[in-house]
Amino acid sequence: MRDGAQERMIRNRGFQGEIRRGVSMSEVTSLRIGGSADLILYPRETEDLQIVISLCRAQGMGYLLLGNGTNLLVSDRGVREPLIHLFHGFGEIRRKGTTVMAGAGVGLPQLLRFCAANDLSGLEALAGIPGTVGGGIRMNAGSWGVEIGNLVSSLMIMDPAGGTRWVKQEAIEFGYRTITLPPDEIILQGEFSLQQGECSEITKRMEDFLREKKETQPLFQPSAGSIFKNPPGMAAGKLIEEVGLKGMRRGDAMVSPLHANFIVNVGRARARDVLGLIDMIRKRVYQEKGTTLDLEVQIIGEEEVAE
Ligand SMILES: Cc1cc2nc3c(=O)[nH]c(=O)nc-3n(C[C@H](O)[C@H](O)[C@H](O)COP(=O)(O)OP(=O)(O)OC[C@H]3O[C@@H](n4cnc5c(N)ncnc54)[C@H](O)[C@@H]3O)c2cc1C
Repeated sequence: MRDGAQERMIRNRGFQGEIRRGVSMSEVTSLRIGGSADLILYPRETEDLQIVISLCRAQGMGYLLLGNGTNLLVSDRGVREPLIHLFHGFGEIRRKGTTVMAGAGVGLPQLLRFCAANDLSGLEALAGIPGTVGGGIRMNAGSWGVEIGNLVSSLMIMDPAGGTRWVKQEAIEFGYRTITLPPDEIILQGEFSLQQGECSEITKRMEDFLREKKETQPLFQPSAGSIFKNPPGMAAGKLIEEVGLKGMRRGDAMVSPLHANFIVNVGRARARDVLGLIDMIRKRVYQEKGTTLDLEVQIIGEEEVAE
């Protein structure tokens, strides 16, 4: 079924949100790479989301959640499954005492600003992570030894049948950039258990963390953050630097001269350029260090062949 037919079908079922067709993934990812997505859906509320996933189920089609696209490498051939971006109806932040509830579409920087303004401490170390609450929880985003999963007390989830439920933190296992949540379950809200603090001190800590990041990471160039996970007891960036690949280029994709675990797009890089670099790095690090590097970045879209 082509995307025009899909769009009509979704509308006929009463979907109220925005629908975009043929969107270049370079517009919606921080790496600025990727072919077109057939369909991006922007549900306005829970009912809209239920319409989309029930239709996908009826059609035997998968779907993918899209946050801010800051941990994604999208193939040059684009994405055939519908992408679902939670934003409009999923952007609320509320507090009750030292607990904060944030919708999946809330940006992590926005959540951090809210916490500081409300004298709530705990999330400061995540300053500079450009994802959303949904993507952040799915990836168990972390920095300076703090992971978002350390602060999450419960999650509101939608299952593939469209049912919603709150899941307590104890029922979920958060690992290194992973969470035990089936891939077709959707995070709708996160509840964070924080501590009383003082706005100026919280802001100062956030600024300190951010300054340190700006000095050591290419935050102002298109990237998807760290490409590889750090192997136990080692830093992936250091290993890549030690095998001499800092600054290595493939097309317009370059191993960042500032931090070797970042691949930056210095112009019109393609996914196959990045995949080529990934392949080269993995082989070289394995040959010279005997260490296997696992990907942190999520690769999505129609399969690409590295050149
Ligand atoms: C400059 C830069 C710095 C970074 N620094 C860090 C860092 O210090 N630490 C760190 O951990 N990461 C870092 N990242 C990576 C990235 O920001 C995080 O992984 C972030 O949590 C991804 O969030 P997102 O909203 O962009 O998710 P996306 O990249 O859009 O998606 C990531 C995954 O989450 C899934 N997803 C998104 N929303 C939902 C939802 N509502 N329900 C279920 N699944 C969902 C997607 O399907 C996908 O599998 C950095 C990235 C950049 C570009």
